[in-house]
Amino acid sequence: MVFRAPKAAPQSVVPAGRRGHLIGRFCHGCNQIFPLQRRMHSGDPIFGRDHVASPCPYEGWSFEPGAPWWEPAVEVLPPPPPVEAAAPAAAPKP
Ligand SMILES: [Zn+2]
Repeated sequence: MVFRAPKAAPQSVVPAGRRGHLIGRFCHGCNQIFPLQRRMHSGDPIFGRDHVASPCPYEGWSFEPGAPWWEPAVEVLPPPPPVEAAAPAAAPKP
C-alpha cells in the first residue's frame, strides 16, 4: 500500500525525537487519521482503512480539545543516522 502523504502516527506512539509536524487527528475508535483542518469526524481519513465495515462510534463528532477518543497525529520522521561512537579522533601520523 502506498501513501502519498508522509507517514503519520498518533503522537503517543511516536518517540519524542521522531515527531514531525502535526498533520492530523487520530481517532481511537477507528484507528484512522483525519486532516487537521476538518473539525468533525467525517468524510475520508488521510490514513486508515479504505473501507470500514462498521461505522465508527465517533462518526460525526467534533474534535473537542482534550476529548479522550482522539489525539494529535504527527508526521513520523526517519530515524536519525547511527552515531559513530568509535570514530577515530584523528588519523595516525605516518
Ligand atoms: Zn473514528
